Amino acid sequence: MTFFIVDDSAVLRTIVKSTLLSYGYKDTIEAEDGEDALKKFNTLNKKVSLFILDVNMPNLNGLELLEEIRKKDSKTPIIMLTTESDKEKMILAKELGATGWIIKPFDKEKFIKIIEMLIKK
Ligand SMILES: [Mg+2]
Repeated sequence: MTFFIVDDSAVLRTIVKSTLLSYGYKDTIEAEDGEDALKKFNTLNKKVSLFILDVNMPNLNGLELLEEIRKKDSKTPIIMLTTESDKEKMILAKELGATGWIIKPFDKEKFIKIIEMLIKK
């Protein structure tokens, strides 16, 4: 299982990473914004099990990144990390091929439940 975490907040990346780790998921790739993520995604030599993308990021935002990933990968689940105020963006994300979204701040148990439901599909 490889999880690809993209968020411009290092704190949030650490929270996601440690949550995954506490449930036994050790293999994560991190990127600090969409541009960094795309660079890493394009040179990746393994399969990603699930993407976790922040929406609001500098350079390339989460929606733009989502669109780029979907050009090359139509199947891997993509979860958007969002805030309560991003509802319109979430509708757009769905249209662009996002699998679902999780509102920050999130409950760790619920977060893992959603993640596990998606990777077991
Ligand atoms: Mg952000």
